[in-house]
Amino acid sequence: MAVCAICAHPAPLQCSACHSVAYCGQEHQQLAWDKHKRLCKILQKIERGEPTPDPRSYCGLCGKTKGPLRVTECCKKTVCDDYENYVMFTYARNSCSRNHDRYTTCSQHHQEGHRTDWKSCIKCDDGFEAELRAWYATNSYNFIGDIHPNPPTFSPKSCNECGRVVKQGAEPNAWLPGGILCKSCM
Ligand SMILES: [Zn+2]
Ligand SMILES: [Zn+2]
Ligand SMILES: [Zn+2]
Ligand SMILES: [Zn+2]
Ligand SMILES: [Zn+2]
Ligand SMILES: [Zn+2]
Repeated sequence: MAVCAICAHPAPLQCSACHSVAYCGQEHQQLAWDKHKRLCKILQKIERGEPTPDPRSYCGLCGKTKGPLRVTECCKKTVCDDYENYVMFTYARNSCSRNHDRYTTCSQHHQEGHRTDWKSCIKCDDGFEAELRAWYATNSYNFIGDIHPNPPTFSPKSCNECGRVVKQGAEPNAWLPGGILCKSCM
């Protein structure tokens, strides 16, 4: 099954307009919409075989064309040049540039100086929890068409206190010896 673009958990719900992204449920589909809506139009054109705008003319993560735009160091893709949106220590995920640089295998792999294609890198697989590895390789901070086609599978973890499934990539959480806590129980 496809994995959710927001949390990497199994995703039965597909975007009905472009059929190119999937979600675990409506909550994450709604969360994604603000950034997906512009890309969705482009993806629909691709699906219909219509001409699409030059990829250098818009951010590959949110579809904005107004800029300023820059090119990523790792994969040379066009992205919003928006580091200044991020306020130190807030951990907000409101900068396309920072999100790609911080939360993707593509960028981590490049920063580590690995030379192979990141999708087949065995060094990146090492010592990193499967759920987070899957998330880093498939989340919506990756560029469409450059998402890991075959991410690691994992068993979702449940909160030690309330038993709710914790979607590690998508929500704050805390690791304990022998367990995990969700954001409400932290
Ligand atoms: Zn999800
Ligand atoms: Zn769509
Ligand atoms: Zn952007
Ligand atoms: Zn990259
Ligand atoms: Zn690597
Ligand atoms: Zn909990």
